[in-house]
Formats: sequence, C-alpha cells, structure tokens
Amino acid sequence: MRKRSFYYLCLIAMLEILLLAAALLLARYVPAFQAAQMERPLTYAGLVVLAALALALSAAWWLSRRLIRPLEDPAFGGQTYDELSPLLHELELRRSQVRSGAGELERKEADLQMIIQNMSEGLVIMDGTGVIITLNPAARELLAAEGDGVGKHLFALNRDPGLQAAVHMAIGGTSDESRIHIAQRMIHAIANPVIMDSEVKGVVLFLLDVTREYAAEQMRREFSANVSHELKTPLTAISGYAEIIQNGMVAPQDVPRFAGSIYQEAQRLIALVNDIIRLSRLDEGVLDGSKEEIDMMQLARSVAARLRQKAQSRQVCLEVSGEGFTARGEESLLEEMLYNLCDNGITYNRPEGKVEVILERSPAGNRVTVRDNGIGIPKEHQSRVFERFYRVDKSHSKETGGTGLGLSIVKHVAMIHHLELKLESAPGEGTTITLQFPVEEKSGKESDQE
Ligand code: ADP
Repeated sequence: MRKRSFYYLCLIAMLEILLLAAALLLARYVPAFQAAQMERPLTYAGLVVLAALALALSAAWWLSRRLIRPLEDPAFGGQTYDELSPLLHELELRRSQVRSGAGELERKEADLQMIIQNMSEGLVIMDGTGVIITLNPAARELLAAEGDGVGKHLFALNRDPGLQAAVHMAIGGTSDESRIHIAQRMIHAIANPVIMDSEVKGVVLFLLDVTREYAAEQMRREFSANVSHELKTPLTAISGYAEIIQNGMVAPQDVPRFAGSIYQEAQRLIALVNDIIRLSRLDEGVLDGSKEEIDMMQLARSVAARLRQKAQSRQVCLEVSGEGFTARGEESLLEEMLYNLCDNGITYNRPEGKVEVILERSPAGNRVTVRDNGIGIPKEHQSRVFERFYRVDKSHSKETGGTGLGLSIVKHVAMIHHLELKLESAPGEGTTITLQFPVEEKSGKESDQE
C-alpha cells in the first residue's frame, strides 16, 4: 500500500512539473497568457499552480488506475495482459489458500481456547523465566489467584516451595511434579519445559485438584496401619499361649483354659478379617447379591432371633415392634447393618437394660429405629464412632469383643441404600440410631408386633 502511494506521489510530481513547464511556455508564446502574466503575475502564477495541480491529480489517478489496478485485480489483469495471466492466476490461488489457511488457523485457535477455558484442570503457560503468558480460569481458581495474573511471575501468585521447586526444575529443562496445599485443597502440579533449539522457551504447568483422592489415600494408609495393629494383637496372644503350651509350662488341668483363650482370640481374628473384607467390598461398591424387595419386619425378627441368646446372657431385653414395610436393598447387607446396631445396643448396656427395634411407616420415608437405654456415648465421641476402629472406651475394647468396624459398616450400608443415618445419645441414658429410607420406597406389610 505504501509503495502504491509512493508511485502515486511520483506521478503527481512529474505531471505537476510538466504542466508548470507548459504554463511557462504558454506565457512566453501565447499573447493572452503573456498579458495576464504581465498584469497580475501573482494571481497568474497561483492559478497556473492550482490548475496544474488539479490536472496532475486527475491524470495521476487515471494513470494509476490503468497501470496498477490490472496488477492488483488478477481477473482484470488477466484480461488486460495475457502474458501476466498464469502468474496472476497462481498468485490468486496462493492468496485464496493463505486466506483459507488463516481461517482454519483461527477456527483451531478458537476451539483450543474454548477447551482451555472450560477444562477443569488448571493450565498455566509461562515464558522461560516463569512470567505468565496465559492461564485458564481453573488455574486461577486452584492457585487462589486474585486478578488476571497474566504478565506477572507465577511466584507472585503462589509461593509454595513445592510449586517453586517444580517450576524451577522445568525452567532448568527437566519435567517435575509436586503436591501443594492451597486453601484446604490438595493440588497436583506438573511442570513441563517447552524446549526449542535446545533452549527452554517456556514452561507449561498443569494443576489437578486431587483433594478427594488424597483424602481417600490418607484413609487407606491409616486403615492399613490400623489393620496391621488390630491383627497383631490377637495373633500375638495366640502365639504366646501356644508357645507356653509347647514348652510344657502349662499344667495339664490348665490346658483347656489356654485352649479356650486361643479359641477366643482366633474367633476375634476371624471376626476382624470378615469385617475388613466386608468393608473393603463396600468401599469398592461391590454388592454380594442384587438389590430386591426386603420385608424389613421379617429381617428385624431374624436379627433379634440370632441375638436372643447374647441378650439373655447379658440380661438385656430385645424387642421388635411397629409397622412393617418393604425396602429395596441387598438383604445380607441390611441384615448386617441391623445386626451391628442391635449387637451394640446389647454390648454397651447393663443388666436389666433394653434394646428396641421400632419400624415405622411414613409418607416422609419409612424408618427403623434401634434404641437402647445403655451406657450412651459422650457428645465429643458421637461424630467419630462411625470412623474405622474408633472406640469410645479403648481399654475395654478387648472385653466387648468388638472389632471397631461395626458402625463403619453400618454407615457404608446406609450410604449404598441412600438411607439417612441419625445418632442421638446421652451418657447414662442410652443411644438411639435412626435409619430413614428414601421416600420412593414402597410401603409394604401391615403392622406387626413381637
Ligand atoms: P465395636 O466393634 O467396638 O462395637 P463399633 O464401630 O460398632 O465398634 O462402635 C464403635 C464404638 O462406638 C464402640 O466401641 C462403642 O464405644 C461406641 N458405641 C457403639 N454403639 C454404642 C451404643 N449403642 N451405646 C454406647 N456406645 C456405643
């Protein structure tokens, strides 16, 4: 465009000079022009210059159109100059290719931007020194960054040592990863160098929110540590008793007592292993059977029958009452859940105590309540009793024979069946645990009493 203006100006200048020369010649040889020049020289000169300029402009415009336009308009040029036709055709082809290539690039860029802006993973692109070139909204949120962030150094947004180390490594040309804590979240940061011509031109940083995975991992780690500890206790006891018997250090009349202890510890071990297996399967969301319509009254009665002897031996009265209903679920899991609740009601009770299983039908959702008037749970422990291996009275856990996993299993089964679980308890007064079934559960059997 600039070139064209230059040619245009040159043309005007040349025409202007030619026209002025013509005006001078006219003034010299044509009498009318001679007189005008003599009488009013300034006016004559001004008029001549203006007329020459107007003529030069018009002529330059006309000439430039004739000369330049054919070269710019391939179709027109092709018609005008046959010899230029193949060249201009080729030029036009290239021009349309470039135009469509540019359009394609723009579309790709828009698609890429849309993906980057909407992805839940954080993406930060930096130059070779760590200054941010671009970052998406997820990265801004994960880094808890205020403002745009573009143009700032990454460390101005976050100074976590782990993040700094990873980015420094990437600036040095090596990929690195690190886990960082930002605003109650655990973030996995992956920093990769962008290398061109053996030089680090930039750094690409990915940020993934791994808070849930980290919590699950932490729980698994704690669980493994607890399991090892819990398994070790009965195994050590069994091994100790067996060793004493093996060394002949037990009088023959005491052997049955020692054997009884070994048996008890082995039973504890079996109960523990069974609960661990059940909990692991529940963790994976694996159901032992399929969900079906379960008669909850029948289930409660069967659980009561299984625990009748234990209740009698502890002089605890166990009752099932209320209106029966059916619930959709996995029978063995629902039974296990009720068993654990009733078993706890008996275990953490005292002679002459009572455990009631009450079934209620309600449009707001059917309910099963397991209520005891036992020792109760102090307030500060109430939110923790559903944790794995959590026991209120750690010193007496061996006597009660519990695995510390009963209520964890209850919580998981309730979750799988979408039941609302509520605990109310007062030390010395007793504990009430309510399981509320979802509303869509159909009501079934009529009221029943045991
Ligand atoms: P455990 O096998 O020890 O019974 P649970 O997970 O069933 O394990 O229960 C965890 C803890 O909660 C128990 O150790 C006990 O301290 C307390 N607990 C559970 N149910 C009751 C209850 N009905 N009354 C009083 N304390 C209870």
